[in-house]
Formats: sequence, structure tokens, C-alpha cells
Amino acid sequence: MGPLQIKDILQTAPENQSVVVKGWVRTKRESKNAIFIALNDGSTINNIQAVAEPGQFSAELLLTVTTGSCLKVTGQLIASQGAGQTVEVKISDIEVYGTADPEEYPLQPKKHSLEFLREIAHLRPRTNTFSAILRIRHALAFAVHQYFNDKGFFYLHTPVITASDAEGAGEMFRVTTLDLNNLPRTDEGAINFKEDFFGREANLTVSGQLEGELGAMALSKIYTFGPTFRAENSNTTRHLAEFWMIEPEMAFFELEDNMDLAEDFVKKVITYALINCKDDLNFLQNRLTEEEKSKPQNERSLPLLEKLAFVVDNPFERLTYTEAIDILLKSKPHKEGKFQFPVGWGIDLSSEHERYLVEKHFKKPVILTNYPREIKSFYMKLDEDGKTVRAMDVLFPGIGEIIGGSQREESYEKLLGRVKEIGIDPENLWWYLETRKFGTAPHSGFGLGFERLVQFVTGMGNIRDVIPFPRYPKSAEF
Ligand code: ATP
Ligand code: MG
Ligand code: MG
Ligand code: MG
Repeated sequence: MGPLQIKDILQTAPENQSVVVKGWVRTKRESKNAIFIALNDGSTINNIQAVAEPGQFSAELLLTVTTGSCLKVTGQLIASQGAGQTVEVKISDIEVYGTADPEEYPLQPKKHSLEFLREIAHLRPRTNTFSAILRIRHALAFAVHQYFNDKGFFYLHTPVITASDAEGAGEMFRVTTLDLNNLPRTDEGAINFKEDFFGREANLTVSGQLEGELGAMALSKIYTFGPTFRAENSNTTRHLAEFWMIEPEMAFFELEDNMDLAEDFVKKVITYALINCKDDLNFLQNRLTEEEKSKPQNERSLPLLEKLAFVVDNPFERLTYTEAIDILLKSKPHKEGKFQFPVGWGIDLSSEHERYLVEKHFKKPVILTNYPREIKSFYMKLDEDGKTVRAMDVLFPGIGEIIGGSQREESYEKLLGRVKEIGIDPENLWWYLETRKFGTAPHSGFGLGFERLVQFVTGMGNIRDVIPFPRYPKSAEF
């Protein structure tokens, strides 16, 4: 079953036990009386200290024990005299699995910029910051599955290759089996992309929602959790070309139920991280506090753990889009002309507007509902007045939109009307329309961008730093 991990050794192994520790060297320090090697295997933010006596090993061997090298250390677990750890390993044997030339190994013990680490995405999980983020990311993913499983949802695997453009935003990556040297042409001579995928049109999915709805119309409560692709050539701190989306879809849920679920869900998964990722969150909090020291006192944000606890402990503010526009119109930045994008009923809110509402006005997460139909997708249920739809966006501090959702249009006639209105050929969505034709039901759902959640929980400013291998224009080539 493999060796004990450092996390288990530190937490549970009894003193005097013989142990084998395998991991990467973080630091080596030599003093007159001892040689200290800090080892980490990624199972925890905490290193284990291994101690050898001077002269115990040849100078030649010790020269190969450098930051980044990989070791197998055999020894005995003893009480530690030093501050910072209760136990350490008294080394009896060292085997060097792999050296890391200090002249070449980029992760020497000093603080590296996040930009630099993005360039070496293959090595950055070996840093404290990234290993902490990846462990928290894992914990959140686990909590997502646990939450839905406990609530009677089924995990539905929706396709990655699909013909449907759920968002109609035209941000799709095309999938092609075409021979690029021999492209099919239309009568006018243009490339016929309709024949991309073995003679049909195909794209990478921008959302699993439409297929998710098919699942909900049979299993009642499903969720998807998979990779999602958007060809947005944007360089924001909140957009990736490849991200993971969590999309629950529920039959017999109205907009209110949908909001209740979204709020409860986010709170429960954050709580899971607060309970299970204490060491990593503390590490990230200290890192952020260090960064904030350069800011004036009144501009510093709450310590990470307090910020998370606040979100978990307080009800989200709920209001309509129309009410939000009124607040924005009365706001100081609007009156002083400080918003980059003008405010008025009918606009699609920008993140500066969303963040004003969350960070300055309400000072807590906000759920906005009933957006104008023109700025939302065709599948959202129309309100009685026909002007707005039963949409909901959940907005978070530091991020803006974290969730987009809605009650879905269940009327076949109305949905068909909306499909035609926005210029989609109903033939392409016949399978989707049939869920309304045969045994339609009120239903709702939402999409949570997983990386935005990880960003919030870890306090990271840039979404590129919360996914192992970020995909964005000019991202690393692997
Ligand atoms: P935004 O307004 O931020 O561009 P959106 O309204 O286009 O988001 P939706 O289509 O509503 O996004 O998708 C649902 C959720 O997916 C969003 O609330 C967000 O959390 C996440 N999301 C959308 N686009 C991206 C992206 N490019 N990278 C990472 N997450 C994304
Ligand atoms: Mg978008
Ligand atoms: Mg949006
Ligand atoms: Mg949205």
C-alpha cells in the first residue's frame, strides 16, 4: 500500500517508531552539531524535519541533498527540541532518488512571483502556495460530490463534444475531423464547417446545462461537474478558456428553491474546506496578510478565514435586477462618473457594478433576480410582464458573478417562440424541445464556475492560479 505519508507520520505515528519518509527536500541547513533536512511529500503543508549528525554521511552524498532533490530517509521518530514541530526523524539512512542541480532548479527557497510560477506550471505544485491550493481544490471537489449525493442528486456525465451552443454567445471551440488540406466547400466556395465532425457540426461544450435538463426530466435531480470550454480571448483575472463547471438541474424546483439550494450549497462546501483544510487555509491567510501589509489600513480586506466564516454565517442579500439598477443609479461612483461602463435599466452588469453592490453597498454576497430577457439566455422562464426572466446570479466579494442560474421555460410554445426569436433553427434543438412537448415540468438549475469558488476560498487574485494547468491566450505550452 505504499509508505506512510508525511501527514500521517506527523499526526499519528508514535514516538520511537522506525519510519521511512519519502519526499522532496525543501531546505537543508547545516550547523556545528547537526544537519537539518526539511522534507515534504505534498500530503500536507507541514514539512517533516530529518536530522543527521555531522560526519554521519559522506560529504559527497550530502552535496546531492539539495532543495528539490528527492529522498528516501529511514530513521526513528523522536521528540523534537526545535520550535515548530513536535517530532522529527533521527536519520539512520539516506537514499537519493533524484538530484536537483541548484544551478538549474528554479524553485530555490525564496519567494517567487505568481507570474513566474505560471511559466513553470509543471513544477509549481512543489511550492507551498500551490500545493495548498491544489489540496483545497481537491477538498472542495470532494465536498461538491458529497453534498449532492447526500441531497439525492445523481452525477450525470454530459458530453464534451456537442452541437449545442447553450449560451448562444458564439464562444465555442470547433472540433474537427476535417482534412485541412482538402476542406469541404459550400456552393459559394466558403469552408463548410457544418461537416466538421464526421460530416456534422461539433464544438467543445460551453455548458452541460441543456443535456443536464434532459437528465432532470427523468431523474428529477442531477448535477454535472466537468470541463467546459469558452473561446473568449479575454485577459481577465476571472476567465479561462478551459474551466470546470458544476451544474445542478432539478425538476419541480422554482426560482426560490433554486436560490435556496445555491446558497446552502456554497455555504456547505466552504464549511467543508474550513473544517478540513485548516493548515492550508492558515498558510494562505498568512501569505495574504503579508501582501496586504503594503496597503493602507482601511484598504486591507478581512483575513481569509474571517471572510469565509462571514459568508457561511450570514444570509445572502436577495433583490431584483431592477432594484439593483436603482441602487447603482443612486451610487457615488455613478454620480461621479467613476464607473467605466454606464448604468441604466437593460445593461448587462459588469463586474465593477457587481462588485460595487457586493463590496460597497451590501457588504455580503448578493443574489440578483429577474433580469431583462434581452440580456439572458433563451431557455429562461419569462416573468408575467414578459420583460424579465426568472434568472438569478450569485455575486461574491472580490469576484463578482460566481453562479448564473434560472428557472427554465417549461412551456413548449413559449420556448419555441424564444428559440425562433433569437435565430436558432428549432430543428437543431428538437431533442431539447421534446422535453417540453412530452411531460413537461417546472424545473430550475444553475452553473457554478468551480475555479471562481476555489479563487474565493483560497483568496487568490487570479483564476490562472487555482487550476493546475491553466488554459488562456498565451498560456504555457503544455
Ligand atoms: P461572466 O459574466 O463572468 O463572463 P457568464 O455570465 O458568461 O460569466 P455563465 O454562462 O452564466 O457565465 O456561466 C456560469 C458560471 O460559469 C459563471 O457564473 C462563472 O462562475 C463561470 N464562468 C463563466 N465563464 C467562465 C470562464 N471563462 N472561466 C471561468 N469561469 C467561468
Ligand atoms: Mg461570459
Ligand atoms: Mg455574466
Ligand atoms: Mg452568467
